[in-house]
Amino acid sequence: MAQVLLEDVSKVYPGGVRAVNGVSLNIEDREFVVLVGPSGCGKSTALRMIAGLEEISAGTIRIAGRVVNDIAPKDRDIAMVFQNYALYPHMNVSQNLSFSLRLRRKFGFWRNPLGWMGSGEYRQRSVEEWQEIGRRVADTARVLGIEHLLARRPRELSGGQRQRVAVGRAMVREPKAFLFDEPLSNLDAKLRVEMRAEIKRLHRQVQTTTIYVTHDQEEAMTLGDRVVVMKDGVIQQAASPFDVYERPVNRFVAGFVGTPPMNFFEGRLIDSGGLLTFEDGDLRLALAMEHAGRLGRYIGQNVVLGLRPESLHADPAAAGAAKAMFRARIVLTEPLGDRTDVHAQTERNPHIICRVDARTRLREQEVVEICADMTRAHFFAAGAEGANLAL
Ligand code: ADP
Repeated sequence: MAQVLLEDVSKVYPGGVRAVNGVSLNIEDREFVVLVGPSGCGKSTALRMIAGLEEISAGTIRIAGRVVNDIAPKDRDIAMVFQNYALYPHMNVSQNLSFSLRLRRKFGFWRNPLGWMGSGEYRQRSVEEWQEIGRRVADTARVLGIEHLLARRPRELSGGQRQRVAVGRAMVREPKAFLFDEPLSNLDAKLRVEMRAEIKRLHRQVQTTTIYVTHDQEEAMTLGDRVVVMKDGVIQQAASPFDVYERPVNRFVAGFVGTPPMNFFEGRLIDSGGLLTFEDGDLRLALAMEHAGRLGRYIGQNVVLGLRPESLHADPAAAGAAKAMFRARIVLTEPLGDRTDVHAQTERNPHIICRVDARTRLREQEVVEICADMTRAHFFAAGAEGANLAL
């Protein structure tokens, strides 16, 4: 097991695309870190540089203290699981699992036929090597619960079982770190959720340092000890799932994490009769005490107010202490069983989503009072990527 350290790492592809731009990240031994971001943000490139599949244009990568910039992938002592986990179709599960170990044998017959024939010690080593491979395959199969599948061919397995074998193939090498590149995107939604929990359980069990790439923010939040949100080749925030959600460093992170996404209102801060207030046309929402202190210096400036769907209520009784109301027209309701997503609009903001209790009766086209829990509001500097002003 190992620490993985990226120091000011960049990747410029031939043709000039700067896919990764000055990324520094310290992944602790045993940590599960998820790189997440929209398509093209550079997360796969970052992972592939750690794996050694992509050359590093600038910076340094260390695995277990050793600089690996110029070390071949096979000598980095890491294992990678891809989205397309091509298993060898003509081999059974056991053979698929042991394949990489068999390739790496030091004392096989074909390595040194004369040595094998001429030396008892060589043959003894060869036998021990086989036994070690057998032990690792058995251990891996047991941890993954696939012992009963060892004799089957890949085509005789379900999607989930295949995925498990693919993970097993990485585990069996007992690498210093696991790298996962969107390993679940080919599975259907239900299986994805199951496998997600399984990967997390597996990590708890084997505790190998894991770096996992996904574009799915929910997958990132549920899996990662730490979530690294990237955009345009740059790390925006590297923090616990809780912090990324509750204390996003900027508007981009705030909008990327969470479904449905955070609602944004563009307006300015004013002093309204001694109360620090967010104003956007007719919309006037007084700030909660905890924000007023820190944001006073922005009076008169343009800011962006962020409110997550669950901080907006159509039932005033459900809102927290610091309530602020505004009127909106309901354009669409999406019942989800336990809750309903309500799409609403005001004159200046056509896309507002509130998440309400499923028992709240609301009709489309009805004009209602929406109640904002301002204790849970976020404030950002103006612009698409404005910094969080309250941090
Ligand atoms: P992600 O995994 O976040 O979707 P990638 O790391 O695959 O993003 O790509 C980051 C950027 O680098 C994108 O703009 C992509 O088009 C570009 N890119 C990726 N691979 C290559 C390549 N082999 N040659 C040139 N550009 C590439």
